[in-house]
Amino acid sequence: MSSSRDGIQVVVRLRPLNERESNNTAARRCLEVVDQASLQYTGRDAPANNHFGFDRVYGEQCTQEEAFEGLTETVRSVLQGFNATIMAYGQTGSGKTHTLLGDVCDRQQRGVVPRAVAELGRGIADCQDDCQIKVTLSVIEIYNERIRDLLDPAKENLQVTHDRERGIVVANATAQPVANERDCVELMQRGIAARAVSATAMNAGSSRSHCVVYLIVERAFADGRIECGKLCLVDLAGSERQDKTAAVGLTAAEGSQINKSLSALGNVVNALTDPRGKAHVPFRDSKLTRVLQDSLGGTARTVIILCCSPSLLNDAETLSSLRFGIRAKGI
Ligand code: ADP
Ligand code: MG
Repeated sequence: MSSSRDGIQVVVRLRPLNERESNNTAARRCLEVVDQASLQYTGRDAPANNHFGFDRVYGEQCTQEEAFEGLTETVRSVLQGFNATIMAYGQTGSGKTHTLLGDVCDRQQRGVVPRAVAELGRGIADCQDDCQIKVTLSVIEIYNERIRDLLDPAKENLQVTHDRERGIVVANATAQPVANERDCVELMQRGIAARAVSATAMNAGSSRSHCVVYLIVERAFADGRIECGKLCLVDLAGSERQDKTAAVGLTAAEGSQINKSLSALGNVVNALTDPRGKAHVPFRDSKLTRVLQDSLGGTARTVIILCCSPSLLNDAETLSSLRFGIRAKGI
């Protein structure tokens, strides 16, 4: 079983060029996969050493199934009572939602969330422990430092609290039991629809909100003991710089709030990888980092999936994502 010694795992996933990128003949690529664990950045402002090493690099041919394979151990660790976080980082349009949710109704194209539920189901079936296992799923959105329940969107401005058995939880957020993947798909459809409605209502687009799906696995033993493990799956807000988003109607206040959760996440990740291991970890600086407080660092496994466009049209944002990942590795 892994512990904090393994640090934060960082993997990169390239998406295929889209039509606009491939039609733009003047624009070449800015990323080449070198091998399973490294890539070369050939865009503008390339550093002298333009080779970047990560735990894993997935090229644009990578299927949803392959992208999930490397995550199964992390998902399964939750059945042993560990917490874990898998998050997708990258600019808007880089493939975060595709990776995490995908097409939830299509067996080939479904993303990490439904696959994680299926994997937990298999793990529970294999489980030798003498216990009753219950899995619940919650879907929340963090926008402007406010938390909304996407399974019951009337519930907004929810607070983060601490529960003795389950650890950090969002108070009053719907936690719906999921017995199988079909339940999960139904809930995800509800959550995705609510996210779209709320994105339209705030005239902002879902790219500016963070969406956190969390699964709590509760094991109740015959002696009354209860152990919980929590898996947080996070579709982060687009990491693009604000000057770009400002062009599409972001107010300054909204911008600073959105940056707040993402930059707080960066600070938390940096503190966790402090080589001396003594840095203060500023979890309390944002709603996002509060929600993830007991699922990042310590004994919790953490995987960051850097989603990247390989096109030169996006080179600055891609380089910035790679740098975020390098910092998260603490190298
Ligand atoms: P983000 O959530 O980061 O804004 P999306 O996941 O919505 O980005 O992806 C943007 C577009 O690119 C979508 O149309 C999506 O289907 C497509 N896409 C992203 N990643 C892949 C991939 N690996 N393979 C095929 N299409 C992809
Ligand atoms: Mg998205």
